[in-house]
Amino acid sequence: MQIKVTKTQNPKTHPTGSLGFGKYFTDHMLVMEYKDGAWGEPEIKAYEPFSLDPACSVLHYAQGVFEGAKAYKNEAGQIRTFRLNDNVDRLHDSCERVCIPSFDKKLVQEGIEELIRVDGDWIPTGEQEALYVRPSVVGVENALGVRAANNYLLFVILSPVGAYYENGLKPVRLLVEETYVRAVRGGTGGHKVIGNYAASLKAGEIAKSKGYDQAMWLDAFEHKYVEEVGAMNIFFVTKHKKVLKVLTPSLGGSILPGITRRSIIQMIKEKGIEVIETAVPIKLMAKMAENGQLLEVFGTGTAAVITPVGCFNYQGKDRLVNGGKMGELTTYLYDTLTGIQYGKIEDNRGWVKVINE
Ligand SMILES: *Cc1c(COP(=O)(O)O)cnc(C)c1O
Repeated sequence: MQIKVTKTQNPKTHPTGSLGFGKYFTDHMLVMEYKDGAWGEPEIKAYEPFSLDPACSVLHYAQGVFEGAKAYKNEAGQIRTFRLNDNVDRLHDSCERVCIPSFDKKLVQEGIEELIRVDGDWIPTGEQEALYVRPSVVGVENALGVRAANNYLLFVILSPVGAYYENGLKPVRLLVEETYVRAVRGGTGGHKVIGNYAASLKAGEIAKSKGYDQAMWLDAFEHKYVEEVGAMNIFFVTKHKKVLKVLTPSLGGSILPGITRRSIIQMIKEKGIEVIETAVPIKLMAKMAENGQLLEVFGTGTAAVITPVGCFNYQGKDRLVNGGKMGELTTYLYDTLTGIQYGKIEDNRGWVKVINE
């Protein structure tokens, strides 16, 4: 289907210098409204502020969800999306969790691809640069009753981004959080529901105030098992009796099913290394770090792709991982995955879609 496009009359000047993350936005956005019991047609138009009534439901009860994906441009000018269909699937699942009506996934994906093409000259091509794609769906009924809204707005904005960490891919230091929890089984942590992120801010601030970069989350029931780090999934590379095994927390409703996580699990398995999705006890990881059996730890997510962990503090004691340096498997995974995304390594897994041919 043909998506209606109304081009902006006032194109912005493109940023020069360091892009940072999520600071600049392109000329256009995609919007699609739900009212009178049905979704309307998607439309691409000038990026502009919304006008919201103070009684708008999302402002009060956070009935909203989002996604994060990336598009890349290679030297040949190909615009490449990475597993965008999986992001659209997950957006749809997240909507279901907070009672937002189902939308046509194929239509929304086509709309996003068209938006990326319309703003294609905004895709930066420098080292580690990409176009970040941020779809959101929020309740916009002007009513204060606590119930699912009758009106919704689906919108997609694009942000040219640079490397997520301004100081390069330096291993991060984590503080294991034993008081606050990010999510609980049965809650909304397994979906990209907007309220989850407000709930996670405090632990992040505490970690920073103590000189760490991010919080490592434990399970909400026993505070014994690792869940995630910041807003990333987490992996532990262990070696016991000469056998390399990679552990990652199993999804159980409180852990976000990351698309990077899924990609990394597949890549590690294809390398012939065992990946075990299981409950990962923090005490055991701390002990293995001390015994030299914990070789590497890293986080995964679209924004930073792979983040090496150089140290984690558990119960007042810093545990160094790989002498605080990025490990061999982490480096291999980072180079291979970003190589596929940027088109330097052939994609034989069907993850990349070229959208401008
Ligand atoms: C988005 C997100 C991730 C990573 O998911 P990707 O699909 O890999 O980007 C991990 N944890 C949380 C809490 C997230 O919100």
